[in-house]
Amino acid sequence: MDDDHVFSFSAGPLCLDFANTCGDRPRCAEDLLQGPGDLIAWGAAAGLLGDDEAGRLRRQAAADPGWGAAIAGSAIRLREAVFGVCAAIAADRHPSPEDLEVVNATLRAALPNLALAPAEGGCCWRWSEVSSPIDRILWPVVRSLADLVTSEDATRIRECASGTCSWLFLDTSRNRSRKWCSMSSCGNRAKARRHYARRAVSD
Ligand SMILES: [Zn+2]
Repeated sequence: MDDDHVFSFSAGPLCLDFANTCGDRPRCAEDLLQGPGDLIAWGAAAGLLGDDEAGRLRRQAAADPGWGAAIAGSAIRLREAVFGVCAAIAADRHPSPEDLEVVNATLRAALPNLALAPAEGGCCWRWSEVSSPIDRILWPVVRSLADLVTSEDATRIRECASGTCSWLFLDTSRNRSRKWCSMSSCGNRAKARRHYARRAVSD
């Protein structure tokens, strides 16, 4: 996949945008993370990697395809675990122990590398400088998931109602009735289907 591919960052929390790099599960018919190049492009598009870090990672992945395949594999495992945890919560179920273990393994690696740093008006969380650039993608994702599922917003996690989408979003509507990841894509398709179904009945 080319670097010019357009990723979506419309879901709100970073972890949901990461999960949404795959659509139409379980077929995963629209998978934007098909290799290390895609993963690095997503990290750069998300603002997690600087240009020099992204360039270094691309060269490393080209020089060592085994390493590239390994980082893409662990990113996809984490992404599917993030999806599994969020989809379960959206469906009022407990996340599976398997999905939680994948997430927790990344958390165990990430959390010792979080530190406080001075910031405007107080402090902020900052990742230590020793982490590998690839961790700069996966660690913020897993932290975003941990923050989300332990917050009140967890009750707003939804999976798009379209049977061929599987995108996640936060339902911030007042009456918590949002069904589609986006009204302009899945919502419109559903509206069009209802329209044609009604016409077929009346014809
Ligand atoms: Zn959708």
